[in-house]
Amino acid sequence: MAAKELKWRELGACRGLEPSIFYPDDDDDALDAKAVCADCSVRVACLEFALQVREKQGVWGGATERERRRLIRQRRRTA
Ligand code: SF4
Repeated sequence: MAAKELKWRELGACRGLEPSIFYPDDDDDALDAKAVCADCSVRVACLEFALQVREKQGVWGGATERERRRLIRQRRRTA
């Protein structure tokens, strides 16, 4: 899994960008990060990784922490 994980990270559209963009103070400040994620070819892999490891901070796969929590709840309900 480590190699697979590394591979998508290397392809991320966020690579080389200022990391603070992806760690906004609140969801309203996440628009810049979401715009980058929207054009990212590994968005799904990134989001699934963040959901899997229960990543608590930052925007991953175009989703804020609050949005990821919501996704996890939705998946639990439909599982
Ligand atoms: S989806 Fe967003 S946070 Fe994830 S690798 Fe792509 S640009 Fe980076």
